[in-house]
Amino acid sequence: EALLERIAALEPTLHSFLTQTPDLALQQAQAADERIKAGNATSLTGIPLGIKDVIVTKDVRTTCGSKVLENWVPPYDATVVSKLNEAGTVTLGKLNMDEFAMGSSNENSAFGGTRNPWDTERVPGGSSGGSAAAVAAGQAFGTLGTDTGGSIRQPAALCGIVGLKPTYGRVSRYGLVAFASSLDQCGPFARTVEDVALLLETIAGHDPKDSTSANLPVPDYRASLTGDIRGLKVGVPSEYFVDGMEPGVEKAVRTAIEQIKDLGAEIVEVSLPHTKYALPVYYIIAPAECSTNLARFDGVRYGVRLEGNGLFDEIESTRGQLFGAEVRRRIMLGTYALSSGYYDAYYRRAQQVRTLIRRDFQEVWSKVDLLAAPTSPSVAFKIGEKADDPVAMYLSDVCTLPINLAGVPGLVVPCGFSDNLPTGLQLIGKPFDEATLLRVGHAYE
Ligand code: GLN
Repeated sequence: EALLERIAALEPTLHSFLTQTPDLALQQAQAADERIKAGNATSLTGIPLGIKDVIVTKDVRTTCGSKVLENWVPPYDATVVSKLNEAGTVTLGKLNMDEFAMGSSNENSAFGGTRNPWDTERVPGGSSGGSAAAVAAGQAFGTLGTDTGGSIRQPAALCGIVGLKPTYGRVSRYGLVAFASSLDQCGPFARTVEDVALLLETIAGHDPKDSTSANLPVPDYRASLTGDIRGLKVGVPSEYFVDGMEPGVEKAVRTAIEQIKDLGAEIVEVSLPHTKYALPVYYIIAPAECSTNLARFDGVRYGVRLEGNGLFDEIESTRGQLFGAEVRRRIMLGTYALSSGYYDAYYRRAQQVRTLIRRDFQEVWSKVDLLAAPTSPSVAFKIGEKADDPVAMYLSDVCTLPINLAGVPGLVVPCGFSDNLPTGLQLIGKPFDEATLLRVGHAYE
């Protein structure tokens, strides 16, 4: 009830939610009370959470921030939602996002963006901006987001909270509306590393409904939060301190790395030489995959259908009028990159360079246990500042994209302020070694 009041008070300013589910929340809270009394509660029973609106929820509208799905009510739950329900959590609603998770500022939401709780003239980051703002503003104790190129980590940094993109395959993608299937991962946001560890433990694990989910046991992540990081080797990749990075952000990140050293870790300068290709490679591969994934939104199978003169005209009107500008731009870029004659020059080439980026990481793991780097080259920017310049917007993801291309995990923990706005330290790990990231993040925070 306290959170429902807080949501009601802050929503007119922040707009973190696309759909609120107060009735469902109170019903689940009552069930949680009974479960606690009956003595079979989990650590998450009764904990109020929010879900990014790209994750399907049975009987609760799921829009993906798009007019195309404005009134779509899914008939099933995503696996991550089923797992939370089994643990007895309370669902407060569905969180705002850039349309189909394409964006870095939340300004691409078809229903109007979310504002950053630290400064409401600024963006919360994106695409999981609603998920990050809701936690930062105390509207939810934790939330789920998705990360294809930085959409959990960048908003976590810009809103001063903890966010984790797990290893590709760690968490089931069943019931995530696909943007770029080889990059998408679902992960948690919370105010502390311990809360993130608890949420990860609950949503992770093999799922026969997702053929790319890994059949590996889920560790007890909270047990890894020992506070002791002595002897760990932490690599600092020079390429992540990019030209144009705000000096205050660089200072905060370098100070955090010094503190990790003081805790007993060994700091090693390393190089990931193909980092500079991550941005162009991502902006071929992600649009290519999105152009095929979004073909299903034809007005026939899902959501809203606009009138037209025959089937093709209906499909054209629906897609032409209901997809926003960024989504159409990506579908066009992706269709172009996949078309015969260009496929070899763009898509195949991008896949080859992706292998080189992945190899950079494989090689660095022989020298270090994890990496520490900035998350975003800037603090939260002003609403409208980059809205008309897609390339400037894409550039804000330089530090997060390589991690998705390599499929490795990334944890963001707050690391102080620059210009009174939060900054985030990004810890990058070996595949399926979220435990080490959480251990270091916990010791540091
Ligand atoms: N900002 C990046 C993009 O627009 C990443 C988005 C994401 O991770 N979903 O594609």
